[in-house]
Amino acid sequence: MLLETENLLRLQDADKEIRRLQDEIAELPKRVAAIEHKLADTKAQLEKAQTAVKADEASRRKYETTIADLRGKISKYRDQSLDVKTNEQYKALLHEIQFAEKEIAATEDKILELMVNADARDKEVKAAQAELKAEAAEIEKEKAEARERTAEDEKQLTDWRAKRDQMRAGVNEDLLRHYERVSKFRGSGISEVLDHKCMGCQVMLRPQTYNEVRTGQQTVVCDSCQRILYFNPAHEMQALEPEHKRSRRHHPKIDAPQAWYYRQEFAEAGEVLLCLTNSAGQSSRRIFDMHTGRLIGDILIREGDFRHAFPEDITGAIRLNGSWTEHEMENWGTEMPMTALDSLHADLEAARYEMSSHTSSKSGTPAAVPTEQAAS
Ligand SMILES: [Zn+2]
Repeated sequence: MLLETENLLRLQDADKEIRRLQDEIAELPKRVAAIEHKLADTKAQLEKAQTAVKADEASRRKYETTIADLRGKISKYRDQSLDVKTNEQYKALLHEIQFAEKEIAATEDKILELMVNADARDKEVKAAQAELKAEAAEIEKEKAEARERTAEDEKQLTDWRAKRDQMRAGVNEDLLRHYERVSKFRGSGISEVLDHKCMGCQVMLRPQTYNEVRTGQQTVVCDSCQRILYFNPAHEMQALEPEHKRSRRHHPKIDAPQAWYYRQEFAEAGEVLLCLTNSAGQSSRRIFDMHTGRLIGDILIREGDFRHAFPEDITGAIRLNGSWTEHEMENWGTEMPMTALDSLHADLEAARYEMSSHTSSKSGTPAAVPTEQAAS
């Protein structure tokens, strides 16, 4: 492995640790804030319960005054009843007395109700007070822990930053810029190569790229994700062990009603993906831009199956694995989704890899074209 690559790997570890520490430091006040929020809720609840108790007490005092007033009135009516001249006057006073007595009874009921409620209110207040006490203790503990952890994290962060600066000094400036740009967009800037694949994006490498990474003479970048590639022979041995179990590339069926092809050149469009479909005695052709997945031109429909209707498009093209229903493709509109494009790209890489390994293992015989092989 190149020394620079080793430095980059260490740099990536340092970057990861720095990010983790920064995230942790940012997370701690949020946790404290969440408990503080809960604490404020409990405080509000307690205040509400206490206000209700006060309101009840005020009501009770008001009712007690009302009852005293009514009793005063009754005693006044009784005094007056001694002096009345007529039976009517006496009846009227009696009526007033009865009315006041009824009011007293009703007010006494209200006081009783308040007294019953007071028990429940009391429990509410006590519960809220207990909760507040527990939460206040918890928040102090959390705050102390957060302070301690933050201080420890900050210390580690300073150490890691110093280490990172040292590591950066060990990497060429252009390479460092490239690494940082890719890291920013993809979360990591360097990727291991295992089993001919870039582990960052899972795309198969071209044999030449693979050999360059393996020999470790120069810095090599993944064509597909731009990560800087490195090779660890120890890991590769482990990955290769179950090689006999590894499934080979699945070959598309020759008589499939839908076939995908890659063409390096297509009229003015350059690299394209073609989708040919047979349906009800007719065939259709869609052309997509190889890199953007955008539909180019109109869908062309001809009589007969696509092998006879579009022979000039198929000749020399690389057959790919891919199958989507007519309905799915209609939903794509003018651009195929990234998942479809990625899977076609990956299959093209696999097909190319297969072609090149055929060529090298069967030197002398012309390269077998995997494109038109029937499924084995
Ligand atoms: Zn990659």
